[in-house]
Amino acid sequence: MKYRIQRFFIGRNGLDACAGAVLTSSFILMLIGTFIPLVWLRYTFLSLAWIGFFYAYFRILSRNLYKRQRENARFVELLRIKKLQWKERKQYKYFRCPSCKAWQRVPRGKGRIVVHCRVCRSRFDKKT
Ligand SMILES: [Zn+2]
Repeated sequence: MKYRIQRFFIGRNGLDACAGAVLTSSFILMLIGTFIPLVWLRYTFLSLAWIGFFYAYFRILSRNLYKRQRENARFVELLRIKKLQWKERKQYKYFRCPSCKAWQRVPRGKGRIVVHCRVCRSRFDKKT
């Protein structure tokens, strides 16, 4: 039996960080949803939870490893940036460059400043 399960998962993506996060949030949505007295809100929560479960299992069972690993790498990178932004939220302001979409960090409380993108060297105004 164990051998058959192992054989089934050969060449499949498996549980990665992205699928784990989706599964966890779906589980939380389902827990919250079961205790909501408003019917329409309960069904909204439960529907979102089911969509999350299906998406997570789609990711776990997917054979398109290249695409799933690229999505997971983007998710992990976004999570790292968001954690950093949260940690430094009082000293710095973060936003994306309008031309190349690279993350930019500027000190807070400096008024209106001209920002030079360090990737594409373009300039743009931002209020900090
Ligand atoms: Zn740029």
